[in-house]
Amino acid sequence: MIEVTLLGTGSPMVDANRAGPSTLVRAGEQIFLVDCGRGVLQRAAAIGVGAAGLSALLLTHLHSDHITDLGDVITTRWVTTFVRTPLPIIGPPGTAAVVAATLEALAPDISYRIAHHADITEPPAIEVHEYTEGSVWNSLVASEATGNQAGGVQIRVAPTDHRPVEPTIGFRIEYGGASVVLAGDSVPCESLDALAAGAGALVHTVIRKDLIAQVPQQRLKDILDYHSSVEEAAGTATRAGVGTLILTHYVPPLAPGQEDDWRALAASVFPRQIELGDDLHRVEVHPGVCVTPAG
Ligand SMILES: [Zn+2]
Ligand SMILES: [Zn+2]
Repeated sequence: MIEVTLLGTGSPMVDANRAGPSTLVRAGEQIFLVDCGRGVLQRAAAIGVGAAGLSALLLTHLHSDHITDLGDVITTRWVTTFVRTPLPIIGPPGTAAVVAATLEALAPDISYRIAHHADITEPPAIEVHEYTEGSVWNSLVASEATGNQAGGVQIRVAPTDHRPVEPTIGFRIEYGGASVVLAGDSVPCESLDALAAGAGALVHTVIRKDLIAQVPQQRLKDILDYHSSVEEAAGTATRAGVGTLILTHYVPPLAPGQEDDWRALAASVFPRQIELGDDLHRVEVHPGVCVTPAG
C-alpha cells in the first residue's frame, strides 16, 4: 500500500487555509516529499513527519510555489539529524543550481550554527540528482542517502509539458504492487500519459479555466495555457486508465462547499474514484484498488 497525503493544496495565490503545493508519499519505510511549497513542514508535522524522516525530496519543477520552503527543508533537516544523513533531492536539470543558490543564501546561518554547536561541523549534506526520464530511485541513489537499499520502492520520471517552464518532470512511485504518479503542473502530453498508464492513482494539479478565463486581469489569464483544467487532468487519468484521480493545487482556491462542483467537472470525463479536499487529505492506494480510509 502507498499512502498519499496532500500536505499543501494551494498555489501561488496565498490562502489562509491552504499551504503551498506539496504531497507526501509513504511507501513502506520510505517517505518522499514531492515539492515543498509554503508551510510544508508545518503540515508534515501535523501527521508526525519531520524533515529528518524524509527519504528524499522530489521536485517536479522549479516554479517558486513548488520550492518556496526549500531552504526550510534543508535547514530543518540539517539541524534535526544527529548522524550524517544526506538528503537526496531529485529534480529536473537546474535543480543543482537552485540548491547551490539556496545554500549560498543560507551561508550566514550555516556559519552561525557551525560556530555555535560543537557537534555541527559541516554544512547541510545534500545530494542532488537531476533527471528528465528514467529510473531515479534505486539501490544506488538510496544507498548513498540512507546507507541501505531502496526499500522495495521504485521511482521513475518522465518529462511533462509546462512550457515555457522546462524541463519539468512527473514521478511514478511503485511499491508492493501499488503505484502513484505525481504529474505536477502540466498540460496533457503523451509522456505523462505513458508515465501514468495503469497506475493506481494520479495526483494532478489543476486550475478552473472556466473561472480564470472570466477574471479581467491578463496576468492571471496568462496561466491558462500551461496548466491542465480539471477536465484535462481527468482526461489524462482516463487515457492512462488510472484507478483514482487525486486533484490538488486548486486555482482559484477551492472554497468550502465547492468540492462537488470540482468533482462533477472531473467526473464528466473520468468515470472512477475522484479525490480532492483540504490540506492533509489522505488517500490509500492499494494494488489495483484505491479506498479512502474512514476519518
Ligand atoms: Zn508551475
Ligand atoms: Zn504550480
